[in-house]
Amino acid sequence: MPELVDLRSDTVTKPSPAMRQAMAEAEVGDDVFHEDPTVNRLEEMVAELYGKEAALFVASGTMANQLAIRTQTHHGDEIIMERTSHPFNSESGALAALAGVQVNLIDGKRGIMEVDQIKAAVRTPNVHHAPTALICLENTHNRGGGSIWPLDKMRAVWEFASSVGTPMHLDGARLMNACVATGLRPKDYAVYFDSCTLCLSKGLGAPVGSLVIGSRDFIVRTHRFRKQFGGGMRQAGILAAAGIYALEHNAERLSEDHFNAQRLARGIAEIDGLDIDVNAVETNIIYFHVRKPDLTVPLLLDRLKVEGVLMLGTGPTSIRAVTHLDVTKEDIDRAIEVLHKVMQ
Ligand SMILES: *Cc1c(COP(=O)(O)O)cnc(C)c1O
Repeated sequence: MPELVDLRSDTVTKPSPAMRQAMAEAEVGDDVFHEDPTVNRLEEMVAELYGKEAALFVASGTMANQLAIRTQTHHGDEIIMERTSHPFNSESGALAALAGVQVNLIDGKRGIMEVDQIKAAVRTPNVHHAPTALICLENTHNRGGGSIWPLDKMRAVWEFASSVGTPMHLDGARLMNACVATGLRPKDYAVYFDSCTLCLSKGLGAPVGSLVIGSRDFIVRTHRFRKQFGGGMRQAGILAAAGIYALEHNAERLSEDHFNAQRLARGIAEIDGLDIDVNAVETNIIYFHVRKPDLTVPLLLDRLKVEGVLMLGTGPTSIRAVTHLDVTKEDIDRAIEVLHKVMQ
């Protein structure tokens, strides 16, 4: 049995020996008392990266989004987001269960919305309406195929949101991918948002952890909700050390993942019965379709698995593959070879 090429998600990366070493040596304290020096260092580092006053280390990207939304809304408020966005689709109903908000969904193109769509969705004062409390964007957009928000579109949304006094939240779980692909800095995007997130356990390769980022006052309020959600951690410096290592060593190299995604996409484009828009591959996520009579997605995934290649089914004809730290160029070539074989 050859080594697995696991392309299901960039969450499958495992901490390297050097990252484990950094974890083992981390200085720690009780983080609920703000006394963990390693957590404090990570929070300062990420706040600085995003050009904000403060940041808070939390268990997951879901917790980061939900804390930011909970902190900025009241039960019965409405928030605006794109239909395929992560907080709406992939966070177990937390928007309803924890923040108690309803969602006004907008159909974007690969996750990207137009400012006019948002203008039309913001509620005007009326006793019949749930007030619009927050506008949420996602960059890169996961289900949009790792798509990148153009900065000018983001600025247009911010200009409008400011004019009506509505705060903005950025699901920036994958923001480093956008930065590496565009050459922009996290703060170039973050400037348009009242709250942001960053996920350390995706392409950055840490085992655990995300951050919520914003003003000091916002983070003070978020800290309380983190405790309420059961997310207060104690000697969390062991985990934060992995995050610091990830930011220092694994951010720039995300460009290799983008290169590998391009290579895989071009390989897939040459295979009869598979359909892919190569131009839509902007970062490390690719989606393609199976167009062969009698070949279902589960059947194709099973055949790939037998050959040691794992991908994720995401719809009746669609499959997702994600490149990451633990996948080499050679692994990509093998995945393409295996796809050729199983499609015959
Ligand atoms: C992965 C991801 C999250 C958070 O997921 P967790 O599994 O809770 O860490 C949030 N938003 C986006 C866009 C993501 O890709």
